[in-house]
Amino acid sequence: MHQEQIDSLREMAIISPQMIIGGRGVAAISGAVLDVVSPINGQVIAQLPNAGVCDVDAAVKAARTAFESGAWSKATPAARKTVLLKWAGLIESNALELAVLGVRDNGTEISMAFKAEPMSAAGTVRYYAEAIDKVYGEIAPTGLDTLALIHREPVGVVGAIVPWNFPMMIAAWKIAPALATGNSVVLKPSEMASLSVLRMIALAHEAGLPDGVLNVVTGGAVTGQAIARSMDVDALVFTGSVNVGRSLMQDAAQTNLKRVFLELGGKSPHIVFDDTTDLDAAAASVVGGIFRNAGQVCVAGSRLLVQRDIHDIFVDKIIELTSKMRVGDPLQLDTQIGALNSKVHLDRVLAMLDGVSSIAYGGKQILADTGGFYMQPTVVTQMDLGDKLVREEVFGPILTVTPFMDEADAIRQANSSELGLSAGVWTSNLGLAHRMIAAIRAGVVHVNTYGGVDNTVPLGGFKQSGNGHDKSLHALDKFINKKTAWIKL
Ligand code: NAD
Repeated sequence: MHQEQIDSLREMAIISPQMIIGGRGVAAISGAVLDVVSPINGQVIAQLPNAGVCDVDAAVKAARTAFESGAWSKATPAARKTVLLKWAGLIESNALELAVLGVRDNGTEISMAFKAEPMSAAGTVRYYAEAIDKVYGEIAPTGLDTLALIHREPVGVVGAIVPWNFPMMIAAWKIAPALATGNSVVLKPSEMASLSVLRMIALAHEAGLPDGVLNVVTGGAVTGQAIARSMDVDALVFTGSVNVGRSLMQDAAQTNLKRVFLELGGKSPHIVFDDTTDLDAAAASVVGGIFRNAGQVCVAGSRLLVQRDIHDIFVDKIIELTSKMRVGDPLQLDTQIGALNSKVHLDRVLAMLDGVSSIAYGGKQILADTGGFYMQPTVVTQMDLGDKLVREEVFGPILTVTPFMDEADAIRQANSSELGLSAGVWTSNLGLAHRMIAAIRAGVVHVNTYGGVDNTVPLGGFKQSGNGHDKSLHALDKFINKKTAWIKL
């Protein structure tokens, strides 16, 4: 990836984006559209169909028809695998174009987006494509006079609603295992980041996915709610905020009791013990763990807990590294922190700092003359457990720092949140590391590193961070019904 290649794509015309229903590109039936504002410079770069209930109904119908036709749901695993592998290849061969389009839409720095978006999505599609003809059914250990088989069947029509921070990666976490297991899908990307997802789904059709198997509707809350309230969606998979997750469960409860799997927010502690041998590595990990993608990362290590006797020296290191981070145009290869996703979001993040007196670094909007939505990476010290900044997910470039006394205090503070997505622990004591892994209530606990990614491991939240898992073979379970066949011999 070279700067010249990126520059040649940054102004590329975006020809009226369309939804994909039944394999065809369509506008909203009402003709309604939403402006797509680029966080790079605040300019309108496209208009997106704003789907209403009728459009969602049409997409669900197309998905159901495709499912019942058996063209995909009854295709052999090997046949499904061939199409999915071809799709993964097409995503890879179009990766830079997809990445630049996505960055223009959501503001993530390209150095991160290229790997975390198209390349990650391609890897996920390939992982599930490769998995699907290696997963077997079961024979249950019943008595000798019966044969009990446990079949794995697709659930049917899957609704998937995803956020804007990593639109292609997260969409792939949902779509790839759903398709691999034979389901049909209605996907709704965020209205704040749909462009790259629409292009990625068009590539699935180029790869030979039958029409109607994978449908995309665009729009906001109304569109998402229509999926959640559909009587003909069998399972709903969601990544986004806690409040929307809560409302989706209510929608399911009030309609057809579709199964709902939620991947929600985080307020993740990054804990540094005083026996850490390489404090410089720990500091770099803490800074990278909160500020990449301007802190708009579900697993962002937004709460630094540092042992009291190394507090001052460690905070100095953090501030030094933070002050050197390059914030700016996300389409520059050397940018380390891109733009916040929207003006509304930037204002919300800045407002979280109102009345906070202990800002040790940053705290201000910058580069306003570009028209884009940029903010300094921000470090806030002298925080208490009760402070709003320590309790609530910011989803922006703000790191809070609180000191802790000892192991018990670290555990108490780490677990004080209602969220439990991720955590990091730095120590040279193996026993302590294992005790922390056991004690922290979070879906992933990193030791002497932060933010490791691989398709082989599940990502899911404890507490109000969610009730499901993306990634790994475990994610397949969300998309299958287990059926027992009980046969008298
Ligand atoms: P959001 O909840 O505002 O929106 C997520 C999606 O839901 C969007 O597509 C949106 O249009 C749709 N939506 C909004 N209101 C809806 C409604 N009433 N009914 C149905 N759909 C609705 O979240 P966001 O701002 O896009 O993303 C940020 C949040 O996502 C953060 O809380 C972050 O932590 C979380 N997140 C979690 C993970 C994870 O793996 N756990 C990963 C990434 C982001």
